[in-house]
Amino acid sequence: MNIFQEVKQAVSTMDAASFYGIKLERNQMACCPFHPDKHPSMKIDNRFHCFGCGADGDVINFVERLFGLTPLEAAKKLIADFNLNIDVKTPYKLTAADIERKSEQERLRAFHLYKRDALNFLREYYNILHCAKRDLAPKTPEEFENCHPLFEEALQNIDMIDWMIEELENSTLEKQIVFLNTYKGVIAHVKGRIAEINLDRS
Ligand SMILES: [Zn+2]
Repeated sequence: MNIFQEVKQAVSTMDAASFYGIKLERNQMACCPFHPDKHPSMKIDNRFHCFGCGADGDVINFVERLFGLTPLEAAKKLIADFNLNIDVKTPYKLTAADIERKSEQERLRAFHLYKRDALNFLREYYNILHCAKRDLAPKTPEEFENCHPLFEEALQNIDMIDWMIEELENSTLEKQIVFLNTYKGVIAHVKGRIAEINLDRS
């Protein structure tokens, strides 16, 4: 829990409103402090809602608006005024669950970056092979005897690369993770081949 959650659990908007001098009617209605309000049009309980101006929120929002504070200042004011035993020095301290969620998100983000790179390499290599198959095809028996190595490479690999792109684009996340783990060697090789082919051409 962060300090906002702790404060909200300890103090209701109703508690804060009465503490700061807002008069509550029996039905938990009060004159709205955020717009000129002659008849009580704000409902205050754990949260607040004004049927006149639409002001709405929790106890932190209420104190923010009432005193013109930031959320953190509002939380600290409530902690001080209500004498709450809440540590204000580490307002955003992470719980074990927060950390776990965070590292899960980071793993997922790293996976998506890796997948994006892998797809880029595979598509680029596919284009190279596709062009080689089209442009370097032997036209005479002599050429066929001694055909371009990139043409042979294209014949050998293009279906596999096509299949890999298809798998990565269309399978479930779990399958993609397994797939990238299984084929990371191939993807590294593809990346190296693209660099070599581009070097040959320049
Ligand atoms: Zn109002």
